Amino acid sequence: MILYLASTNPGKLKEFREAAQVCGIRVELVPGIADIPPCIEDGQTFEENARKKALYYSRQTEGMVFTDDSGICVDALGGAPGIYSARFAGPQATDEENNQKLFADLGALEANARRPASGVAPPLRSAHYICVVALAQHDRILITTEGRADGIILAAPRGTAGFGYDPLFFFPPLDKTYAELAPEEKFRVSHRGEAFRKLLEYLIAPAE
Ligand code: IMP
Repeated sequence: MILYLASTNPGKLKEFREAAQVCGIRVELVPGIADIPPCIEDGQTFEENARKKALYYSRQTEGMVFTDDSGICVDALGGAPGIYSARFAGPQATDEENNQKLFADLGALEANARRPASGVAPPLRSAHYICVVALAQHDRILITTEGRADGIILAAPRGTAGFGYDPLFFFPPLDKTYAELAPEEKFRVSHRGEAFRKLLEYLIAPAE
């Protein structure tokens, strides 16, 4: 079985490919993806965006196409940046700029936060990553799956691996940030890994 990934991120291709290989499933990029105009991601949820992208690219190829949409949600910021994670600091923002904005927004919030009467500071820094994977063929969604990882936003970055918000995202079960994990280690516990494993389970489940 072959799955076609609609993404231009080489890191994702490698991660998905390695996980699928174990189940005898091949992962390739959507043929000619570099020449296909990008899909406009204007959904209001991760799921809407993932479905939209999967449907769009499934009209460009014969096989089964999957894609993911993901981001980080910070509780104290009302779930922001959420679906706007990639462009939190602006349309062409770099990871560094997005991280700086997250620090600045949380810093401002904490400076203004009034301590409750007990003197215990509110838990301002809890956050979670979400990833929704959508699989489609011939303009029809076959399944969507979701993964989630809970953590804490640190006051200073740690680690150099990963991308995006990883140096700020401390994952308590492993006592490390995502940027301190090797790629395989991160995929084993990440929102993306969880969503993709659910997709693989669906694909290899015996037909009823
Ligand atoms: P997309 O799903 O590739 O569009 O990712 C959206 C954005 O969410 C990325 O640009 C990152 O800012 C953030 N993000 C999603 N998943 C991760 C992750 O595993 N690590 C760090 N940042 C992530």
